[in-house]
Parts: sequence; structure tokens; C-alpha cells
Amino acid sequence: SSAMAKSKFEYVRSFETDDTCLRNCYIVVRLDGRNFHRFAEQHQFAKPNDDRALGLMSKSARSVMEGLEDITIAYGQSDEFSFVFKRTTTWFKRRASKLLTHVASQFSSSYVFYWKEFFGEQPLLYPPGFDGRVVLYPTGRNLRDYLSWRQADCHINNLYNTVFWTLIQKGGLTTTQAEDRLKGTLASDKNEILFSEFDINYNNESALHRKGTTLIWEKRDETVSKHIKRPNEEEKQVPVTRSRRKVEAYHCDIIGDQFWEEHPGVLQD
Ligand code: ATP
Ligand code: ATP
Ligand code: MG
Ligand code: MG
Ligand code: MG
Ligand code: MG
Repeated sequence: SSAMAKSKFEYVRSFETDDTCLRNCYIVVRLDGRNFHRFAEQHQFAKPNDDRALGLMSKSARSVMEGLEDITIAYGQSDEFSFVFKRTTTWFKRRASKLLTHVASQFSSSYVFYWKEFFGEQPLLYPPGFDGRVVLYPTGRNLRDYLSWRQADCHINNLYNTVFWTLIQKGGLTTTQAEDRLKGTLASDKNEILFSEFDINYNNESALHRKGTTLIWEKRDETVSKHIKRPNEEEKQVPVTRSRRKVEAYHCDIIGDQFWEEHPGVLQD
């Protein structure tokens, strides 16, 4: 209020430091669940991938994209999600702390709000938290490399976890034996163990688990039938087509060029 603005206390505002994000850069906010190793255990997440938990992460990320402006793409895997603001965003004057805290709090409250939709009667035992950071990338190439880094991380972890838990669940090994078995193995060795010992072709495993989740805005034509009633006319049904923006989910490779060629708008603004 204006009374406050003129008070002798007003000077304390000048202690706030400037955290404006450099112009032209893509702004990335990455969130990661706090101590989710424990959270997963306490809530009996399926190993190595709990689809309820992944669904809830994506739902929360959608809620962030739908509620906050200017996020063009988000990528998530495990207990993390990255959100990319378009490089021209002026939202909250590009103040890093504002962007970060809005994303983190909207995500966290959504995670709790939508818990039941994914876990049903299984209770949420304590309030989960997420850490967050802001990183700026000056070029489209840098941004793509950032997202490639996160998807490569998803791949490496999922391949390891898939073999590890297959050795235990289907091979009857203990966790220590499975660890020893995998020590020093390359990706090709892991693929070979799955294939020759368990008849599993890793490439046929769930794309959600192998590739993570990419969310982007897409225009979709939507046709609804509308009642129209003009004076002195019969009421009639008329099809009306509208173009609507919707968040769409992909579980595909985003390291190669194909995804970016098919969705050129994502890096554009
Ligand atoms: P912004 O997103 O910019 O913060 P805002 O609407 O939250 O917008 P604030 O200056 O933070 O604006 O003001 C918070 C408003 O929320 C108050 O002006 C009041 O209308 C309402 N509000 C908050 N807490 C209470 C409360 N306990 N009782 C009644 N109204 C409240
Ligand atoms: P920190 O607080 O440092 O992030 P953390 O325990 O969350 O610690 P991460 O490296 O973020 O460590 O790992 C997240 C862990 O959460 C995974 O290793 C896994 O145990 C668990 N986890 C997250 N999502 C799932 C899921 N969908 N299914 C099964 N386990 C999951
Ligand atoms: Mg971490
Ligand atoms: Mg974590
Ligand atoms: Mg993590
Ligand atoms: Mg407020």
C-alpha cells in the first residue's frame, strides 16, 4: 500500500539483490525430488520403475506448464523434471528466484494434490520436497545438449536398473551378487546379459522408461458439435472446429535431429 511505500522501513528493499536472467538465453529450471530413494522405499514404489510415480510427476509438470506462462518444453525422468522458458520470456522480469520458486511450489503442491489420482487409497506418508536450480543456455545447440544430457542419464540409469533388477527378480541373485555381476560392464555387456540370459531385448522395453517424458505445447484441431438456435428456425447441430493449444507427451528420442525437425516451434521464440 502507499502508506507502507513511504515508511521509513522501505529502505530494506534495497538489500534485495538482482537476479535477472541474461536476455536472449533459454532459462532452464530443473527440479529434483529430495531424498526420493527413501521416499520410493517408504511408498513401495515398484522397482526399477513405478508407473504411478512417473504418471504423477508428469501430471505435476503439466500443471506447471498449464499454469505458468512461456514454458515451451519440459523433460522428466525418475524424480526430476526440467522446464524450459522461451528465450524471449519477460515473465516476472526474468527474475531467477521468482521463476524458480513458482515452478517448484506449483510442482510440489500439484504432486500432493494429485497423489490420490495415481496412488488411490495408498496414503502419502509425509510432505515431499523438491530442490530446484536455474541454468541459462545461450544457444539452441546448448539447450539441446542439456536435454540430451538428461536423456542420456535416463538411458544409462534405466539400462543399469533394468539388468540389476532382472538379475534379482528373474535370476534369483542377491543385491550384492547383482552389483558384483555388473561391476565394470559396458552397455553392450548389459544388453547381452538381458538378451542371452533372460530373452529380453532392451529396445523393446517401455519407451516411457527408456526415454523419459517430453512435454510440449501443440495445436490440435478440435471439432465439437454446437447447438445453434436462430429466431424462426429449428434448433440444429453444427460442427465447429477450433484450434486449441494442448500439452502433449512424448516418450521418444530427443537427442537426434528428428524430434526437433518435427517440432521446429519449440526452439524458435
Ligand atoms: P501476486 O501473485 O503478485 O503476489 P496477489 O494477489 O497474491 O498477487 P499480494 O500482494 O501477495 O497479491 O496480496 C495477497 C492478497 O491475498 C491480499 O491482498 C488479500 O486479498 C488476499 N489474502 C491473503 N491472505 C489473506 C487472508 N488471510 N485473509 C484474507 N485475504 C487474504
Ligand atoms: P537427492 O535428494 O540428492 O536427490 P535422491 O534419493 O532423490 O537424493 P536421486 O539421484 O534423485 O536421489 O534418485 C532418485 C531415486 O528415487 C532413484 O534412485 C529411485 O530410487 C527413486 N525413484 C524415483 N522415481 C522412481 C520411480 N518412478 N520408480 C522407482 N523409483 C523411483
Ligand atoms: Mg539430486
Ligand atoms: Mg532426488
Ligand atoms: Mg534424481
Ligand atoms: Mg501474493
